Amino acid sequence: MLLTDALLLDYKRCPRRAFLNVYKNSEERDPERDFLLKLRQESHNHVVTVLAEFYPNYQKPQASHQDWEARAKETEALMQQGVECIYQGALLLSDFQAWDLLSQVGVPTPSDPPPVNDKGDRIILLGTPHLLIKRPGISKFGNWWYSPVSIQLGRRPKPEYKLVAAFYAQLLATMQGVFPTTSEVVLRRQNRYTVDLLEWLPRMRETLKDAVQMLLVRREPEVFISRQRCSLCHWYSHCYSLAQSQQHLSLVPGVTPNRYEYLQAMGVDSVASLADACPINLGETMGREVAAQLKQQAQAIVEQRAIRKFNGFLDIRKTIPTAEIELYFDIEAEPERNLDYLLGLLLVDRQTNSKHFYPFLAEKPEDEGLIWQQFLAVVSAYDNAPIFHFSEYEVETIKRLANLYKTPRDRMESLISRCVDLHKRTISSVTFPVESYSLKALANWIGFQWRDRGVSGDQCVCWYDRWLTTGDRTFLEAILRYNEDDCRATFHLKNWLVEFLVDG
Ligand code: SF4
Repeated sequence: MLLTDALLLDYKRCPRRAFLNVYKNSEERDPERDFLLKLRQESHNHVVTVLAEFYPNYQKPQASHQDWEARAKETEALMQQGVECIYQGALLLSDFQAWDLLSQVGVPTPSDPPPVNDKGDRIILLGTPHLLIKRPGISKFGNWWYSPVSIQLGRRPKPEYKLVAAFYAQLLATMQGVFPTTSEVVLRRQNRYTVDLLEWLPRMRETLKDAVQMLLVRREPEVFISRQRCSLCHWYSHCYSLAQSQQHLSLVPGVTPNRYEYLQAMGVDSVASLADACPINLGETMGREVAAQLKQQAQAIVEQRAIRKFNGFLDIRKTIPTAEIELYFDIEAEPERNLDYLLGLLLVDRQTNSKHFYPFLAEKPEDEGLIWQQFLAVVSAYDNAPIFHFSEYEVETIKRLANLYKTPRDRMESLISRCVDLHKRTISSVTFPVESYSLKALANWIGFQWRDRGVSGDQCVCWYDRWLTTGDRTFLEAILRYNEDDCRATFHLKNWLVEFLVDG
C-alpha cells in the first residue's frame, strides 16, 4: 500500500476520506466540480509563478509520475550529483520505518520484513515535495544536503501543510543520512513560512502511525458531516446519504465533534433520541443553554416545524423593520482577485407592490469602483430604506469598498447603520427544521425555489472567470439570475420571519 503525502494530508483533514480513497471504488466519487478544477489551476499557476520568480534554474526527474520508483531513483541520482534545485523529486521509503511503525502501534505482523498486515499489504511511504534545495553541510552525498520546500495556495500555514512538510523532512533524513534543519512552505503572495520541525516531527509521526494503523486494519472511520470540511469533498454524496440513512447526529446544526462524543457517551445516538433526551442530563454535560438549543433543534427536525426560540426578539418590528421602500442586497465576489464584481440590489416598493432589480455588474475587474459609485447613488436616493442582507460579508464589503474608493466615513457609517443582517436575526430567533442555516436551506424550506437548480456561489466564481476568458455572455446572465434570486430569497425570508414572529 502506497501512503503518499497527499493521502496523509487527506487523513489530517478527515481520516474517513483517506480510508475511502484507498478502499472505495473511485467511480463512486462525486464528479469533479468546476470550483475544484479552478482551485487546482490556481494552485498550478502559483507554483509556476514561484518557480519563475525564485527558482528558475531547476532540474527534475524525467520518468512518468506513475513510475514513482524510477522517479525516486532519478531524484537520488540528482541529489548525489549535487544539483542546486530539484523540482518534483520523489522521496521513497519502503522498508524499516513502516515496519517500525507497525510494531509500535501493535498491528499483528509476521516475524520478518517487509511490513505487511495479515492481508499482505506492504506500506510504502512516498513524498513529492515541490522543491529540494541544496544547502551547505555534511550528508551521505558529500558537503551538502537538501531541504524541502512546498508551495501551497493557502494564505496561512495550516496544520496539514506543516504536517506534510515534516513528512518530507523525515523521508529526506532517511535518503541523505541527515535531518534537514528547515522545511519551508511558500504560501499565497509568496509569503514564506518555516516549519518548526522540533514540534512537527513528533506530531507527524503520531499521525502517520494512526493513519497506518487505520489503513492496515481496514477500520472505516464513522461518517461525520461537517459543512466546512465536507462541502468540497469528492465523497460528499456517498457520506451524506449514509448519514441520512443513519439519522446521524452530525446533520443536526450545532452538533460539533466534541458535543457528539458527549451525546454518544450519554446513549444519545440519533436525531430522534436527541429530541427525546432529558434536558437536565444534557445540560449537566454541555451547559443548559447549549443543551436546550440542541434538543429544540432536533425537535424541529423530527416534527418538521419551525420553533420560536426561548430568547427570541421581543419587539420584532424594531429588530426587523418594515418600510414602504426596502432594499435587499447580495454580492458576488471573486476571492482570488479580491474583487466584488456584482452588487445586486432588489428594490421592493410595498405601496405599489412592485419590485425592481438593480444589478451593478463589473464586466471588467477594473470597473469595481464604477459599480460601487452606481450602487451608492441608488442607496442614497432611498436613504430611509433599510438594507436587508444575509451574512456579515455585505457590511465587510461596504467597509472595504468605501476605504478603497475613498467614500467619506460618515457616508459609509450611515449606510452600515441601515443594514439588517437577516442571518443573525434568524439564528437568534427561530429554530428551523434544516441541516444548515444557509440562505438556500432556509428559503427552500419556506417554499422559495431558485430558477436554476443546483447553482452555488462557488459556481458563480467559476462562471465569472469563464466570462473573462471567453467573453460568453451566457455566463454573466446565469450569474445575474442567481444573484437576483438570492435577493428575492432574502425578501421571502424576511416576510416569513416577520409573519412568524409577530403571530408566534
Ligand atoms: S464527505 Fe466529509 S466525512 Fe465524508 S470523507 Fe469527505 S470530509 Fe470525510
